[in-house]
Amino acid sequence: MSQQSSRFKFSLEKVVGKARVGRMHTPHGEVETPIFMPVGTLASVKSLDSGDIEATQAQIILANTYHLYLRPGTKILNHHQGVHNFMNWQKPMLTDSGGFQVFSLGKQLVSKAALIQEGNQAKLKQAQIKEDGVTFSSHLDGSKHTFTPEKAIQIQRDIGADIIMNFDECLPDDAPEQYAKQSLDRTHRWARQCFEAWEAHGRLSTYGTYQALFGIIQGGMHPELRRESAEFMTGRTSGLNFDGIAVGGETIGYNMEGTGQVMEWIEELLPAEKPRYAMGLGRDPQDLIDAVYLGFDMFDCVGPTRLARNGSLYVGEIDFKQSTGASREKTDHRATSHKPEFVSQYPNGRLNIGNIKFATDNRPLSKACDCYTCSQGYTRSYLHHLYRTKELSYYRLASIHNVRVMIKITEDLRLHLQSKT
Ligand SMILES: [Zn+2]
Repeated sequence: MSQQSSRFKFSLEKVVGKARVGRMHTPHGEVETPIFMPVGTLASVKSLDSGDIEATQAQIILANTYHLYLRPGTKILNHHQGVHNFMNWQKPMLTDSGGFQVFSLGKQLVSKAALIQEGNQAKLKQAQIKEDGVTFSSHLDGSKHTFTPEKAIQIQRDIGADIIMNFDECLPDDAPEQYAKQSLDRTHRWARQCFEAWEAHGRLSTYGTYQALFGIIQGGMHPELRRESAEFMTGRTSGLNFDGIAVGGETIGYNMEGTGQVMEWIEELLPAEKPRYAMGLGRDPQDLIDAVYLGFDMFDCVGPTRLARNGSLYVGEIDFKQSTGASREKTDHRATSHKPEFVSQYPNGRLNIGNIKFATDNRPLSKACDCYTCSQGYTRSYLHHLYRTKELSYYRLASIHNVRVMIKITEDLRLHLQSKT
C-alpha cells in the first residue's frame, strides 16, 4: 500500500441544496457518506458479532475510549495490535475521546444544585474538571484516573481506530454563559494540545496506521460561542487543520430543532471539503433524514440498539415522492432542498413488539426491510414471543433489524441525492 492510499481522504461528490454525498478513504477501507455508524461501546455492538454487523452493511462502527480504557485496557489492545484485530472487524472504526464521559460524570460542577435536588449526591464526587484535564472515579470500582488531552490521544493511538476525536468538554445547554465561555476556551486549548500530540506521533496509531483527527465544535446554545468554536476548529483562528469537523453538545441529536439552529449559526463557516459529523445523532429515522438535509455527513447513536432491546422496532419507509414531484422545477431552490419523510403507521416510526396485538401477527417486522431478520422469515409473532420470554436471540434479531433500517436510510438518501440532476 502506498503512503498516500493508507491515509485519510474525503471527497465531496455531490451537493443538493444543503445535503451532501461524499466518500471517505481510511486505512481500513472506504466509507460512503451520508453514513450511520452503529455504536460498539466496548468493542461490541451489543448482542451482535462482527459478522452480524457486517451483514447490516455497516461501513464503519464506533467504539468508546473511556470504556475500552477501563476494560479490557490498553495492554490487551496492544497485545492484539489494536481494536480491529481484537474484535475481528477489519473495516473502518472511529473512537470518541472520552470527553462525553467528562460531561456525564462531571456535570455536577455546573448544575450541582439540580443534582442535589434529585438526591444524586453520590455523583458529586465522581469527576473533577481542571485546566490540564479531568480526574474521575471509574464507574466500575471507584479507582481514580486522569485524562489529559495527551492521554486521550495516547489511548486512542493504542485502540488504533481510523478516525479519532479531540478531547473536549461536552457543554450542557443550561451552563451559564460565563461558564460556557470558560469551558469553550479550555476545549480549544485541549484541541490544540491534542493536535500537537497527534502531530508529534506522525498522526499514526501505535501500530503505524494513519489516524484522522476530528475537531469538535462546542459552545452550547450560545450562537456567538458556537461561531467562535467553528472558526477555531476549521482552522480560521487556530491554524489547526483537522481531517474532519464534528459538532457536539447536549442538544445535538437530542433536540433536532436545536441541532438545526446550531447548524444554521455555523454552516457558512464549515469548509465544504471536510466531513461533518453530528455526534450522538440518529435515534429516529426522521432524525437522520433531517440531519442529512441540514448538511451533516456522519451520525452515531446508541438509540437503535437500545430501543431494539427495549422492544421498540423501526417500521416504515422513506417517502421521496414529494421531493421527486417538486424536482420538476429544478431552478426552484425550495424544490431541490425539499426533505423526504419517513412514513410509518406507528408514532416516531417504531412499533412496540411487546404489544399483545403482535402475538398472532405472521408478517415480518417490515416488508420494506432487507435485513437478516426480515428476509429470513422471522414473524412479528415469534419476535413478540422471544421478547416476552427474554430469549437471548431476541436481542440479536431485533438489533440487526434496527441497525439495518438506519444504515439503509443513509444508503437510500445517498442514492436519491445522486439521482438528482
Ligand atoms: Zn428488518
